[in-house]
Amino acid sequence: MTTKTGSSVFDKVLIANRGEIAVRIIRACHELGVRTVAVYSEIDRDSLHVQLAHEACLIGPAPANESYLRGDAILRVAKEQGVQAVHPGYGFLSENADFAEQVEAAGITWIGPPASAIRAMGSKTEARKIMRDAGVPVVPGTEDGVESPEEAAQLAETIGYPILIKAAMGGGGKGMRIVRDKRDLASALEGARRESMNAFGSPLIYLEKYLEKPRHIEFQVFADHQGNVIHLGERECSIQRRHQKVIEEAPSPVMTPELRERMGNSAVEAARACGYRNAGTVEFLVDRQGNYYFLEMNTRLQVEHPVTEMVTGIDLCQLQLKIASGESLPLEQHQLTIRGHAIEFRIYSEDCLNNFLPFTGRIRYLRPPDGFGVREDSGVREGDEISIHYDPMISKLIVWGADRESAINRMSRALGEYRITGVRTTIPFGRLVMKNPAFRAGEFDTSFVEREFDLENLQAREHAWQKVAAVAAAWRRHHERGKGRHEAEPHTVQDKSGSGQWKDVGRRAALR
Ligand code: ADP
Repeated sequence: MTTKTGSSVFDKVLIANRGEIAVRIIRACHELGVRTVAVYSEIDRDSLHVQLAHEACLIGPAPANESYLRGDAILRVAKEQGVQAVHPGYGFLSENADFAEQVEAAGITWIGPPASAIRAMGSKTEARKIMRDAGVPVVPGTEDGVESPEEAAQLAETIGYPILIKAAMGGGGKGMRIVRDKRDLASALEGARRESMNAFGSPLIYLEKYLEKPRHIEFQVFADHQGNVIHLGERECSIQRRHQKVIEEAPSPVMTPELRERMGNSAVEAARACGYRNAGTVEFLVDRQGNYYFLEMNTRLQVEHPVTEMVTGIDLCQLQLKIASGESLPLEQHQLTIRGHAIEFRIYSEDCLNNFLPFTGRIRYLRPPDGFGVREDSGVREGDEISIHYDPMISKLIVWGADRESAINRMSRALGEYRITGVRTTIPFGRLVMKNPAFRAGEFDTSFVEREFDLENLQAREHAWQKVAAVAAAWRRHHERGKGRHEAEPHTVQDKSGSGQWKDVGRRAALR
């Protein structure tokens, strides 16, 4: 199936993102011999992704809508720097069909699906229609937006309570409301509509059957320009807090070869139905009887992509670059092998002992774990400041083990070794999940976190450990002061292979 030869897929790629995913993409590019252009906001001047890229250009002040969401500024940098392709990562402009179109119109390759697929899958109602027509099972519900409370009441009766009100243009769990009783429908409708308008600029909402205790299982798909579409197996993403993923693993503890084949085929059908290309994820909910339903399609690389990499041995980010440059898929469906088990834990700068409140501050001491089977995809270093401006996820800890139990034990060991002070994180929560008997037995669903943990207990059990960590940090600061050293300072950008000049040019450039 291989078509193109040669060592380099592109000469130069712009990474329209920051943090761990920008670092991830830069690394993939460098391993392929591709030069990289980073973009950054004023407060990210000295950040890791800027330091690692060959060139870096300032695009605006800290707020994302003045920098990382400024498609015009990013496109201008892409043209000035003469890049051949733009990788959007996840978040920010990655699912912005207009931006993808503008990039392509400028003669620059968009490392992602066609704008038409992004647009179609960006609307949950539109996506549901396309999937239903393609014969992919969807969660029972409406395919059109629901307008009046009377119409909603009628539809809800047909679907059957409990129902879930969802924002058609939604994401990040926003605009969702569970309604168990018809008397609560009208007010929930109003609330969901308001939230959707505020978050997505659209009041369009629709109804889905609320499935009790489902599992969230998603399939990684890849499509090339030659018309080949494959899946790379599933990821289990049921460990969620407020409908947002916290821990992901591959394979799913409940997967059977037969179910994988059926769900995988549906995922491939879903990708074909929307004219997909490059990397995408088809999300499903799976009920206790093993019935599965299409939930949505994410038209980009996912946060949790590393667990698929660890069990397939395929570098998904490099594959994205290769596919975008015209290469065909390196394997056929029957050649896919899943080896061992991988788990990812998302490390957020959130105080999990205080209701997961976002935490800002400077990382004073950082020593992530390492050793066999441990991988950390991080966007921060010791001395870095965690600001309020961006997503609180600062790093991902990923482990591989020969089987699920070894992977859990390894994650437990790695989280136990993790040392970070200056900011509070979700690490203590991860340690508790790894010890949880239901989690260890693979018996959980999307309501696991809310059901198994109450914050009082979380606090009591981790309190002792926190005290030890605080004493250790204080001792270290005292020790360093004694040696005449100051507390950790942010790293500064270092010139590499003559790239400093470009960085300076980029930084001086007025981008508005
Ligand atoms: P978003 O795009 O806002 O993240 P999703 O549609 O991807 O929303 O759903 C996120 C999570 O919300 C799912 O993983 C699941 O836990 C829950 N969820 C969504 N739809 C349903 C449903 N119909 N029934 C039960 N849970 C649901």
